[in-house]
Amino acid sequence: MSVGNKIAALITLLVVLLIGWICIRTFNAKPWPKHKVSPLAALPQAAVTHLSTAISIPTVSPQDPSRIDSAAFLKYRSFLDSAYPMIHQRLRRNIVADFSYVYTWKGADSSLAPLILMAHYDVVPVEPSALSLWTVKPFGGEIKGDTIFGRGSVDDKCSMIAIMETVEALLRQNFTPRRTVLLCFGHNEESTGQGAVAIVHLLQQKNIRAEMVVDEGGEFTREKLGDLQRPVALIGIGEKGYATFELLVERAGGHSSRPDKETAIDILSRALYKLRGEETPRRILDPTREFLVRISGSSNDFPRKVALNNLWLFEGYVLYKLGEDKDGRAMISTTIVPTILESGIRENVIPSQARAIVNSRILPGESIKEVQEFIRKAIDDSRVKIRITGDFSTEPSPMTDFHADVFKKVADAASAVEDDVIPVPYIMVGATDSRNYRTISNGVINFCPITDGKGYHGIDERLPIKDFQRAIQFYTLLIDG
Ligand SMILES: [Zn+2]
Repeated sequence: MSVGNKIAALITLLVVLLIGWICIRTFNAKPWPKHKVSPLAALPQAAVTHLSTAISIPTVSPQDPSRIDSAAFLKYRSFLDSAYPMIHQRLRRNIVADFSYVYTWKGADSSLAPLILMAHYDVVPVEPSALSLWTVKPFGGEIKGDTIFGRGSVDDKCSMIAIMETVEALLRQNFTPRRTVLLCFGHNEESTGQGAVAIVHLLQQKNIRAEMVVDEGGEFTREKLGDLQRPVALIGIGEKGYATFELLVERAGGHSSRPDKETAIDILSRALYKLRGEETPRRILDPTREFLVRISGSSNDFPRKVALNNLWLFEGYVLYKLGEDKDGRAMISTTIVPTILESGIRENVIPSQARAIVNSRILPGESIKEVQEFIRKAIDDSRVKIRITGDFSTEPSPMTDFHADVFKKVADAASAVEDDVIPVPYIMVGATDSRNYRTISNGVINFCPITDGKGYHGIDERLPIKDFQRAIQFYTLLIDG
């Protein structure tokens, strides 16, 4: 055999071994174990009526906190008082920042760090222009078939009412939790989030450190990973950062009959075009890797199954495929997108100013400063002034360890209310009140067992009543576990 042939034979052998190894890994990949859950506890009609009443009280978060509709928030308080007599008899309630609440339910063992169950009961307004698109009254709390409709049914009154129902029912059974349970409800998560800030401040003053904090955010999905044909519990363990930038161009304007070669609008348009053409780095973070590994054995899409079970070789391909759709891209990279564009006052005047607002969601491991630098480099035009703006900005949150007990507890409770669930760690793309709680706990988790929640901040927000029933069982397991 010539040297050339020997090399060719060796390469062939290596390729065969490689393919063999890829096949072994693919065909040996075990699906996440399947399981059947026991029947859910019966759902009292009163619980559904309470959720409906809660939705019918329009606790809308105004952008300007001074414009809060106090009457609605007070009505909601009276509703809580009358719907949950045992809670108001037996638990201490602190009213914080006017309308946020902390209920303390003393546990049998005071040496154990408390469990915090949280939710918010403010909602976003319904745009007047969208009213005609709703098939029900947004604040009607209407029940049609097996679904309850209305603003807040998903975000986030279902969590709050499920928590209240759970605790009221346990109190009626004379149950005492092992560890103290704190119920923390914010009243302006959809605007400033100051209620949650004030609650955390109060808990800090009391030197409270929580074992676990469970808030909205993650949910079951059947739709996002269709090729699995089984539900995945997206269990939030951290949040992307949030920042808003202003891009501003100022140039002498003038008469539109004699335009300069470049106007403020031209410069800004080019800048935005360049920015949108530039890709932020794609990365598979540890929780995302764990996510992919856990679903890898259950994929019914063969190329995807091969790739997921051989990330050591196909990471680049997986990054490419994830980057093809918006959900995947949000998982693996910082996103930057223009959301407001402003310029001009008259059709025959060249404006002297053009302004764009760009919103970014920042992947853990990166920072607001780095995003600003990325935008500057992508635009590469010193005539475009870039500055941080907006009501709110936050760096990416620290991440809860998905090997920790708290993750397992939530994963077990989620798996106990739905058949064949695959629980996976998940980095959330939106921000919630719970980010504030990271100063008082290493165990912040975002999950509520609803399935592909419909109408978040949109039209015909609605919740299958079965999801509400699941939520009550889920919170019962967290308290009782
Ligand atoms: Zn929410």
